Amino acid sequence: MSQREWIEKDFYKELGVSSSASQDEIKKAYRKLARDLHPDANPGDAKAEERFKTVSEAHAVLSDPAKRKEYDDTRKLFAGGGYPRGGFTPGAGGGFSQDFNIGDIFGGANAGDGGLGDLLGGLFNRGGTRTASRPRRGADVETETTLGFREAAQGVTVPLRMTSPSPCTTCHGSGAKPGTSPRVCPNCNGTGIISRNQGAFGFSEPCDDCRGTGSIIDDPCVDCHGSGIQNRTRTITVRIPPGVSDGQRIRLAGQGEAGLRGAPSGDLFVSVHVSQDKVFGRNGDDLTLVLPVSYSELVLGTTVSVPTLEGRVGVKVPPGTADGRILRVRGRGVPKRGGGAGDLLVTVKVAVPQKLDDNAADALRRYAEAEKASGFDPRAGWAGA
Ligand SMILES: [Zn+2]
Ligand SMILES: [Zn+2]
Repeated sequence: MSQREWIEKDFYKELGVSSSASQDEIKKAYRKLARDLHPDANPGDAKAEERFKTVSEAHAVLSDPAKRKEYDDTRKLFAGGGYPRGGFTPGAGGGFSQDFNIGDIFGGANAGDGGLGDLLGGLFNRGGTRTASRPRRGADVETETTLGFREAAQGVTVPLRMTSPSPCTTCHGSGAKPGTSPRVCPNCNGTGIISRNQGAFGFSEPCDDCRGTGSIIDDPCVDCHGSGIQNRTRTITVRIPPGVSDGQRIRLAGQGEAGLRGAPSGDLFVSVHVSQDKVFGRNGDDLTLVLPVSYSELVLGTTVSVPTLEGRVGVKVPPGTADGRILRVRGRGVPKRGGGAGDLLVTVKVAVPQKLDDNAADALRRYAEAEKASGFDPRAGWAGA
């Protein structure tokens, strides 16, 4: 914190005390304000949170006699309002922690004072954590599913089994055996945080006794072993849109964990694996297919009935089609997100018979001679090679 900030901020005014207030008066004023303004007592109130920070900052300086003197001296020096030329340098004794010292609010000999129990009760009434009772958006959930090739291409409704943590039904999330309840951790007075001061620095760390939860369970619930959480399996039915591809992650808004206290649900993310198909392949929105044909079909031309995702389609192979050529059937591919569909790409591939009967073999020999006589040379392009 710079001296400029010190000059601009009236810490006494923030705490509502006079500049001659005793250390005790400062401490009392701070405790009262900190309780009223504590974020847990004012969920979602940004103004209160800002005030809480300011008040904590003021207390951090004024509660330390050495820092308070430095603060007083700095302000006295520039009380006339004129800032020194050349700007300000950070205070020589600077570097203290701006961490709010929560231990100072609840700790010390006055921990049992009236009102504190009520405050703690309000903070730790659910699950032993300070955030449990606030509205909170449900968690996002990740799961995966394997779809058949055609299911993925056309869209499908699938049941998804999901296991996720939810409050234990036996202890209603408290973690304590029914009939008993968690008690406030005496080590940290329920804050879950232990604060210690080392020189000018204030350190806060999670309390060891309660592992930062602020409460201690003497008699744990047998069903959740004191965690307050159980894994619950639920099955939901989700509609996977057409056209998903292998490895794709789909977001289903609002299908995740339920929100707490009316907050919106989280999202469900489904990683999709798509199994291979015997007949079809995919290239984006295009469906691919290898069509086995005979040599004579390529030479003479033909029309072949080919399977698609829905029914069959007649594909015309023009006379003189080269082996490996791709024939495109428009609109018979994978449905697109925005409507319409990709194409069906049919690759023709000659199937060579491994065995011919005498009749066919004789005909083929006669054909070969006739082909040569007609002047067809498959390696004509190699002339001179
Ligand atoms: Zn503790
Ligand atoms: Zn339980």
